[in-house]
Amino acid sequence: MSPEFRVRVGQALGNERVRRNIRRAMDGLVLKRCKAFPDEHELTVLRRRGKLIRGHALANLPDLLRELERNCERNGIRVHWAETAEEGNGIVLDILRRHGAELVIKGKSMVSEEMGLNAYLEAQGIEPVETDLGEFILQLADERPSHIIGPAIHKDRLEVAELFANHFPEIPSGEDIEGLTAAARQIMREYFGRALAGISGVNFAVAETGTLCLVENEGNGRLCTTVPQVHIAVCGIEKVIARLDQLPPLLTLLTRSATGQPITTYVNMISGPRREGELDGPGEVHLVLLDNGRSRVHADRELRSILRCIRCGACMNHCPVYSRLGGHAYGTVYPGPIGSVLEPQLQGIDRLGDLPDASSLCGACGEVCPVRIPLPGLLRRLRAEGIRGRKGSRVIGRGSRRKPMHQLIWALWSRVNACPVLYRGLTGLATRLRWLVPTSLGPWSRTRAAPVIAPRSLHELARAEGLEGE
Ligand code: SF4
Repeated sequence: MSPEFRVRVGQALGNERVRRNIRRAMDGLVLKRCKAFPDEHELTVLRRRGKLIRGHALANLPDLLRELERNCERNGIRVHWAETAEEGNGIVLDILRRHGAELVIKGKSMVSEEMGLNAYLEAQGIEPVETDLGEFILQLADERPSHIIGPAIHKDRLEVAELFANHFPEIPSGEDIEGLTAAARQIMREYFGRALAGISGVNFAVAETGTLCLVENEGNGRLCTTVPQVHIAVCGIEKVIARLDQLPPLLTLLTRSATGQPITTYVNMISGPRREGELDGPGEVHLVLLDNGRSRVHADRELRSILRCIRCGACMNHCPVYSRLGGHAYGTVYPGPIGSVLEPQLQGIDRLGDLPDASSLCGACGEVCPVRIPLPGLLRRLRAEGIRGRKGSRVIGRGSRRKPMHQLIWALWSRVNACPVLYRGLTGLATRLRWLVPTSLGPWSRTRAAPVIAPRSLHELARAEGLEGE
């Protein structure tokens, strides 16, 4: 484990308050998901359907993206392609500069987090204001999201009250949820009225109709995409689906898996700028399609399955590692099992090879994933990529975690276990010299007892019982 990762894990485990908040939130979400899918058969059918829809989209990705571009343009949505996060940021900045926007309101978007868009815009003199309540709280706290669905899930209302009191002393908010929400509304309303441009994410982009679908619960997404003159949607290229009739099963899977809701409060279907005679809506809509390493992931038939992800967060909610650490310990935009598979592929296993190891491989993530992504299998594949690197693989940094000392130890281990004479000789010797075995084995025994060698080997016991050779 890298020293940085160990420090972050230590901090997370040492923070009782965060651990309590995360645990409570995860327990609640797990229970809600469970109640949302009372019929096991219905769930199985839905998951199979979700997997097929997303799998079909990925199998036809280039064609569907071209179709999406064509139909969006026909609807009046201007489509931009960004190969990297830097390119994506540049495109957004160009649009904002053209309109002289100095303030931009934002709906929740993990892709914009991936691009580091807020920091980039701030450096260019443009003020981004998060309008999702969780993201707004984090912007005040200068933190990154801890969860992909509930970004501020690690904070309790008292922490939020303290933040509001420090940043907006003129607005009394109290400490109860209603008061805090009302205060946030009051603060944001002014921004909604002033901003020339709004930025949002996209949950699904429908190729056949050129429609952008965006789900949310707070109404801020609708305001960001309709009130300002310009709407910019940022979207990973994998979010495309072929047809409009594929949306309902995906939305059902997404909302029930994420929050246990049958449907979100707002489902926004954006199919172009304001038309003649319409009373509201932006004058311009832009779609920025971001690759940022996804094409490379897509080229690998096994690893590509991670691009089926619909960002529900269920794998995180059910992960015993995530539910103890929270998202910040991972040090990446996407935490939990989804992040441990996606991030090392986007950024390189040489940089983030710790993440596939940050799993107990209990299989819970794969069990709950609504689009049946084989997360445990992908984690194992990436662990192997870090050590060996599969032939023809395009994983960045493959083989970089291979250490000569480890290789030597495993080669010896394999040799000893493959040779009965050596095995018996060495285990016999170990039992006799067991008092020499250290009681501490470095990091391995930091959280568990070091193994104690038995006074008699299994073979000796079997011999004493007259069982050897049976
Ligand atoms: S990997 Fe599966 S469970 Fe995890 S966020 Fe994506 S869709 Fe949800």
